[in-house]
Amino acid sequence: MSDNGIQQNVPLAGYSTFRCGGPARFFAEPSDGYEVAWLFDWAKDKNVNVFVLGNGSNCLISDEGFDGLVIRIGKNMSKLTSEEPEDGRVLVTAGAGLSYARFGNYCVEQSLTGAEFACGIPGSCGGAVFMNAGAYGGETKDFISKVTYWNGEQIITIDGSQCEFGYRTSLFEKLNSAGKTAVILEMQAILSKGNKEDIVALTDDLRARRTASQPLDVPSAGSTFKRPEGYFAAKLIEEAGLKGFALDDSGAQVSPKHAGFVVNNGGRAKASDVMRLIDYVVEKVYESSGVKLEKEVRLVGSFGG
Ligand SMILES: Cc1cc2nc3c(=O)[nH]c(=O)nc-3n(C[C@H](O)[C@H](O)[C@H](O)COP(=O)(O)OP(=O)(O)OC[C@H]3O[C@@H](n4cnc5c(N)ncnc54)[C@H](O)[C@@H]3O)c2cc1C
Repeated sequence: MSDNGIQQNVPLAGYSTFRCGGPARFFAEPSDGYEVAWLFDWAKDKNVNVFVLGNGSNCLISDEGFDGLVIRIGKNMSKLTSEEPEDGRVLVTAGAGLSYARFGNYCVEQSLTGAEFACGIPGSCGGAVFMNAGAYGGETKDFISKVTYWNGEQIITIDGSQCEFGYRTSLFEKLNSAGKTAVILEMQAILSKGNKEDIVALTDDLRARRTASQPLDVPSAGSTFKRPEGYFAAKLIEEAGLKGFALDDSGAQVSPKHAGFVVNNGGRAKASDVMRLIDYVVEKVYESSGVKLEKEVRLVGSFGG
């Protein structure tokens, strides 16, 4: 990769499902782990921070954008292959930039069971591993057999059992939160063959449940808050009287369809409008229930305070 592959001042709103946020000072979409490593060296040399972006479906990007290098793991790293080990199960290997829904649909096509829930999650495979994305009782950790990542020094492959998966967390998320480098390059899943009709029926059922309960036609980052232990965030928000609530006409609103989603109506709200509403919801839910909601959505760039 050369400096030519690095773009400057790239608007990021289109790279986030929230459809808001400012530009990246530098932006690149590498094709493999060696280019990722090269980009990290480049950033070190230029003394700029790095943010790794997947499909931007769990990120709120600040209105000022990101004053550094955004490395987007996307279509250039979206290879998908499969092979059958001897015990009849199938190994599916997916580049971190592959859409997680595409991975899920591929498993359905191949009559593989266990990844039906993935079909409705709008992230990348890398983002799903990082967040241990899950839905309807399934989690990414259930079928991950190996993950290949760049740890800032080398490209290494570890077993699923070493990935320290937990509720919306993983080894990679923990390393990132500790200020260390962990860029997921590839995941390998191991899945069993099942009955195609059952798999298709389950996938359709989950899709229908999602469409019936979530505001999928309005920009958002999915569930804004993590599930507090022993509670449901959406229920607490509803009980605080905030379902459908908006502070103003900015476009930021607690979804009238699903109180766990903060949405950006018409994509016209600024990130700061969304953030003000999130802070308000946290405060009001704490007042009404004593439960402190934690954001599931990851913040990119500066939000002051
Ligand atoms: C309508 C809607 C419905 C949703 N439903 C669900 C759901 O049912 N279950 C669920 O768990 N989530 C859900 N989400 C949230 C989101 O889709 C998941 O968290 C998803 O896994 C995020 O993947 P991403 O590629 O978009 O990650 P991004 O939003 O791009 O990034 C999220 C975090 O992962 C890191 N990251 C991304 N890719 C990599 C990589 N290759 N290497 C290292 N770090 C990386 C980023 O730095 C960031 O910290 C939903 C979102 C929306 C908009």
